[in-house]
Amino acid sequence: MTSPTAPMTSTGAAISSALAPCPCDSGKPFNRCCGPFLKGTATPRTAKQLMRSRYSAFAIGGYGDYLYASWHPANVGTVMVGDLNVAEVPWTGLTILDDEQKGDRGRVEFKARYLDENGVEHFHHEHSAFLRVNGKWLYLEGKVREA
Ligand SMILES: [Zn+2]
Repeated sequence: MTSPTAPMTSTGAAISSALAPCPCDSGKPFNRCCGPFLKGTATPRTAKQLMRSRYSAFAIGGYGDYLYASWHPANVGTVMVGDLNVAEVPWTGLTILDDEQKGDRGRVEFKARYLDENGVEHFHHEHSAFLRVNGKWLYLEGKVREA
């Protein structure tokens, strides 16, 4: 496994103010929603909170370390922190369709919206599975559905 040597991109470029709405579409300000998770001052208590914060990390960019650390080590594979830092796709919104938590297992179904190179909006529809290990929620795997 390669160590995270890639330089961080400018963190939070899309968030001009801590009071700006959170990218995860919760309706809450970033600093009272996913912000504390991404900054490491709080830990998600539910699989859904982790899912939202991972979406925000992808949407904002620069949070590769967070995405890597919240990915189950058995499945992170060859994913690199540097790649996770890059907000590759312009994500425009998140809708949680369903979520369920039983003990240390969690499931979240969501649709994330993004724009293609022509500015046309598309959906990424996924069923994500999460596992709580030593009190910390981790992203286990995702199954992408046809939108
Ligand atoms: Zn949020």
